[in-house]
Amino acid sequence: METLYRIEHLQQTYQNRTVLDVPDLSIRKGEILAVIGPSGSGKSTLLRLLAFLETPTRGQILFDNFPFTPLTAEMPLALRRRVTLVFQRPVLFNASVRANVAYGVRLRGEHNHHQRVEQSLREVGMEKMVHVRAHTLSGGEIQRTALARAIVLQPEVLLLDEPTANLDPYNVRLIEELIQRLNRQQGMTLVVVTHNVFQARRLAHRTALLLEGKLIEVAETPSFFEHPADSRTRAFIQGEW
Ligand code: ADP
Ligand code: MG
Repeated sequence: METLYRIEHLQQTYQNRTVLDVPDLSIRKGEILAVIGPSGSGKSTLLRLLAFLETPTRGQILFDNFPFTPLTAEMPLALRRRVTLVFQRPVLFNASVRANVAYGVRLRGEHNHHQRVEQSLREVGMEKMVHVRAHTLSGGEIQRTALARAIVLQPEVLLLDEPTANLDPYNVRLIEELIQRLNRQQGMTLVVVTHNVFQARRLAHRTALLLEGKLIEVAETPSFFEHPADSRTRAFIQGEW
């Protein structure tokens, strides 16, 4: 499989504290990579870097061979647009579901987006709620609207930060099915941050474990869970963290 991201000696430091230190990691085009780890292990920081939202302190991220380094002021728009991040707690405007989903495409100056907006609302099962005001939505509906707002942009890479945290089983299943559909039908590359090891096991082709900012292990999901190479991986998946 083709390499889409290549991370080299990546470090992110806030106020003299290094919260992420990943010497080497590749993300393959068309894979679902789960990133697991306890709270504070640097998962969200990694996603922000992969979305080019902040600049690394050290090292580099090659995206399609284009380097993102401490010296890169900004990634070219054409590259940034290939990647979309959905935050853990998405914020919607106090407007209708449809207006929230249409906002991003309108911002890009893309017109005639009506069908794409409808299509992405159908994808997340929100087609009957297009006129509902965002502030009346449940947690699961907010997350699904945020996902529609992301996929309407037709990214090549979707970065999801705890997409099902605190959701009921119905919404968890809808979102997991969506992730698999985007991957299988559109070949989308997905990086899914989760602290749910079962979710990683259900969804991901490969799983990576972060502990205290360090990449402990990354492997094909079956071997990650069945034959972990590192004792800390074993401890984490057995719930000792
Ligand atoms: P996770 O998503 O795994 O819970 P984060 O990436 O959010 O972890 O955070 C990793 C560590 O970095 C935490 O200790 C957090 O407090 C710290 N951190 C994250 N973002 C910032 C920031 N902008 N400024 C200072 N510290 C931060
Ligand atoms: Mg986080």
